[in-house]
Amino acid sequence: MFSFTVLKENPKSRARTGRLETPHGSIETPAFVPVATKGALRGVDFDTVGLSGGEIFMVNTYHFFQLEREKTVKKFGGLHKFLGIDYPLMTDSGGFQVFSLGFGREHNIGKVTSFIPRKPLTDQESQPELRPDRNLVKITDDGVEFRSLKDGRRLFMDPKISIQAQKDLGADIIFAFDECTSPLADYHYTKESLERTHRWAKQSLEALGRTRKQALFGIVQGGPFQDLREESAQFITSLPFAGFGIGGAMGDSKASMGRVLDWIYPYLPADKPRHLLGLGEVDDILEGVERGMDTFDCVVPTRWARHGVALTDQGRFSLRSARYLTDKTPIDRRCSCPVCSRYSKGYISHLIREKEIFGIMLLTEHNLAWMQNLMKDIRSAINSGQYRSFKDQTLRRWRG
Ligand SMILES: [Zn+2]
Repeated sequence: MFSFTVLKENPKSRARTGRLETPHGSIETPAFVPVATKGALRGVDFDTVGLSGGEIFMVNTYHFFQLEREKTVKKFGGLHKFLGIDYPLMTDSGGFQVFSLGFGREHNIGKVTSFIPRKPLTDQESQPELRPDRNLVKITDDGVEFRSLKDGRRLFMDPKISIQAQKDLGADIIFAFDECTSPLADYHYTKESLERTHRWAKQSLEALGRTRKQALFGIVQGGPFQDLREESAQFITSLPFAGFGIGGAMGDSKASMGRVLDWIYPYLPADKPRHLLGLGEVDDILEGVERGMDTFDCVVPTRWARHGVALTDQGRFSLRSARYLTDKTPIDRRCSCPVCSRYSKGYISHLIREKEIFGIMLLTEHNLAWMQNLMKDIRSAINSGQYRSFKDQTLRRWRG
């Protein structure tokens, strides 16, 4: 039911194309996985994204679990039935959101610490209703206790519970329960946490049992520390997972993400898919593909759309700015999406400035279509053996 085939490898880099088969269809890789956090894409229909080449989506287990909604979904027969779609789906373990209650919200930081000052955009809709609080999360060797941000209830998650929730949701690709450490965690803490993550990886496999309906991916952790990343890669890839996710803190710059992926690479089995968790800005994807990553999930294209920011070949820009109000040209002349063939920057800028939902819908549709186009270009560059030069050109344009 689940398989992965490498189609083409690039001679000058680790970039590769492949095909991932799932019970709900196949995906061409490298692929971008749009995030439908609570089961929706912010006003845009799954099929609209499907038409632009979107083949697979990620749903966050945490948002269902904290409402016990995975039990409702199970009664419908799983997420595919509940959402009324037939695309391949991924769910994460819920761990990242739980642990980030303890650190991310506290410091308002992401996986790469230098992102903080550069990115004032916040995601109001998925931001916790309560103020950040160290007491929200208590981690033990058994699992993690946390408070629901919806109603303050005490909740508990461990490998067994996370996998059960993901079974109830029924996505095609699911992830092991791991501890995602704070980007500010020191070596000692990260090492201690890694032992937990490795124990939880085995327990996640046991909890899945023998089912072949869902493919379980293990997650390599270890923070920005070389020996811990190598130890984790070696251990996690020795377990019978269907694929591997790279998670956790990647250090203090974009360059350090590349280093982390370079440390891990030698341990990753060539015949299994590799997913970079939660990192999917344009340069992350280009560098990740070069280092042999196959799939990427990220909220950025939809989040930016909500803030009026459009992705284009020349970088990104904000349509909030009044200078676009009189601009009759499309967001991106090269983009073939229905938004760019019909609507002007002026109209969308007007809608965004007036807080019309339709403006966000149009921008979300364009941003997701633009990402899918980028992935198509990446795949054809790999297939024609030109990935390195494609990457350099795209980055030069993107960074202006
Ligand atoms: Zn477009």
